[in-house]
Amino acid sequence: MKFGTKAIHAGQQPDPTTGAIMTPIYQTSTYVQAAPGQHKGYAYARGKNPTRVALEDCLAALENAKYGICFSSGMGAADAIIKLLNPGDEVIATDDLYGGSYRMFTKVFAKYGIQFKFVDMHDVDGLKALISSQTKMIWVETPTNPMMKIIDIEAMVNIAKEYNLISVIDNTFASPYLQNPIDLGADIVMHSATKYLGGHSDVVMGAICTSHDALYEQLAFIANSCGATPGPQDSFLVMRGLKTLHVRMDRHCSNGKAVAHFLKNHPKVGKVYWPGFEEHPNHLVAKKQMKDFGGMISFSLKNDSFESASALASSMKVFSLAESLGGVESLIGHPASMTHASIPKEERIKTGITDSLLRLSVGIEDEEDLIQDLAQALDKA
Ligand SMILES: *Cc1c(COP(=O)(O)O)cnc(C)c1O
Repeated sequence: MKFGTKAIHAGQQPDPTTGAIMTPIYQTSTYVQAAPGQHKGYAYARGKNPTRVALEDCLAALENAKYGICFSSGMGAADAIIKLLNPGDEVIATDDLYGGSYRMFTKVFAKYGIQFKFVDMHDVDGLKALISSQTKMIWVETPTNPMMKIIDIEAMVNIAKEYNLISVIDNTFASPYLQNPIDLGADIVMHSATKYLGGHSDVVMGAICTSHDALYEQLAFIANSCGATPGPQDSFLVMRGLKTLHVRMDRHCSNGKAVAHFLKNHPKVGKVYWPGFEEHPNHLVAKKQMKDFGGMISFSLKNDSFESASALASSMKVFSLAESLGGVESLIGHPASMTHASIPKEERIKTGITDSLLRLSVGIEDEEDLIQDLAQALDKA
């Protein structure tokens, strides 16, 4: 089956009792057993819920993976992945990482003795020199947040395999519609399903997909033992969102392209970061591993000050100033003061997150309205 058909049908059958075409929201915490231990695979809802199982199977199908596991947030999924490790183990991660992942790694897991190295993996060849006997995992986001760097997944995975490391891709920005890391050999794909998968800014959820039997067993054990599993209402919402993922992504991409070109030609704009530009340093890698270039764009202003970025962000009328991304509505964010505020200033500037840097999550409204809105707000910057 192709992507759009899987998005609508995978994991879902008409309800056996009524024929309802939509998977019911099984709002239950437990399941009745005929005799002790005699149940239909469902014993207690932290471990398993039919609405969640349908969603997990659908997500696995979209990522071409054998297994899917859902979590109550993207951070819940990331937390479970790091819990595969032991004290003393080390993770090598991309440097301009989602701020929440950076915070969890450095403020929560560092004190349990897990070590993290943050490196620019834009050229993966440098990676080998950093691998030590402690290194157990490579953690990659691509496109990165918010600098839209592209990391060559296949090249990274080959290094991970050579050194017997677990490779993890946070695939939130691309979504399975644009990029399938499992096909490129990655061990684990994680998502903040809050973003493109849910797609309507009405639910917080996370997910992991893998085809690796042993890793799946461990991750499912951690999910049930630690308990960051989502409820059936949220599972239903993400499943409904998924049904239009392919249609939404096409519009995110075409709007993104139009907005990126508009910004590039605007006299007040400094740099524009979008992997679709031929001059993007890893444009060819993006072209190779992604179906299209997505709706995420960052840009700086020639007047590189917090004040001009703030004036622009607060004059937007169609774009809303808010954290998050991947919803139908367009958002603008200021990483230095919002998503990346927990990253020390020197590190922030080093990775390119200057005071005026703004990040757009281009929604699926009409292209002309989005460009007009940016034009009027740039006048005020
Ligand atoms: C939002 C996000 C997360 C965290 O997901 P939540 O659902 O907010 O917990 C992780 N990685 C990336 C790239 C994100 O954008």
